[in-house]
Amino acid sequence: MVAVRVRASFLAITGLLLLTGCESPVGGAAAPSVSTSAPSPITSSSSPPPSSTSSSAPSSSASSAPAQVPGSKVVVLDAGHNGGNGSHAAEINKLVPAGRGEMKPCNTTGTSTNAGYPEHAFTFDVTQRVGAALAAKGVKVVYTRTDDKGIGPCVDKRAATGNSANADAVVSIHADGSTAAGSRGFHVAYSSPPLNAQQGEPSTRLSKTLRDGLRSAGFPPANYIGKDGLAPRADLGGLNLSTRPAALVECGNMRNAGEAASMTSADGRQKYADAIAAAIETYLG
Ligand code: ZN
Repeated sequence: MVAVRVRASFLAITGLLLLTGCESPVGGAAAPSVSTSAPSPITSSSSPPPSSTSSSAPSSSASSAPAQVPGSKVVVLDAGHNGGNGSHAAEINKLVPAGRGEMKPCNTTGTSTNAGYPEHAFTFDVTQRVGAALAAKGVKVVYTRTDDKGIGPCVDKRAATGNSANADAVVSIHADGSTAAGSRGFHVAYSSPPLNAQQGEPSTRLSKTLRDGLRSAGFPPANYIGKDGLAPRADLGGLNLSTRPAALVECGNMRNAGEAASMTSADGRQKYADAIAAAIETYLG
């Protein structure tokens, strides 16, 4: 996701985390930490807190009273990474259970656009916008993090939030950072092979519904990873540990100039959020 030589020099000289992908490789290079510092507490609320970004406030695109999602549905929204991760290497490198018998670092810094707009800011803003749209439809929304200044939470804690909320759907929101020339487009990851019934048909259907929604909103499926906008994965801890229907959306490639421009604008982020929220509503029925 970023130049290996840069990563090596950063680690060697400063020990700081470098911008990394959405999760480190299993048993990644980071050394385990003995820190006892806990990551940010998992908090939840039924309405989003004020955004700390400078962008315009999240809003529903509905122009009149929106139709309500039937029943009492719970959606857990998981904004990838966090603003404090990059300056808290010990906490973030601590190994935690990641499913399938593996341990992985608690969390990573995420990527950024070439101009430096960070993934954690993008994911937080989009997630807040998705949550606002869903809350307007009567959905109870629970967030794995409620600001963009904290550390973590670790991937296992993020999964636990969805599990303990008994979520009808858990959607993690990320953006990718492929530096391969011409890489662009979104993809949706789900746990495969499934480790429980909810990781089977429900998670696959949630992922396909998100894929269909993003594609019909005009976003192109990734041309460098997965197939037709879908990516079955065995190595993502948050998905492995979920006992609820769960999917992880990589909205696009932050290293692609066109997608970076969209992600950096409030209007662009609203378009991602509208597509994701509408897809979640479709899935909830
Ligand atoms: Zn990510």
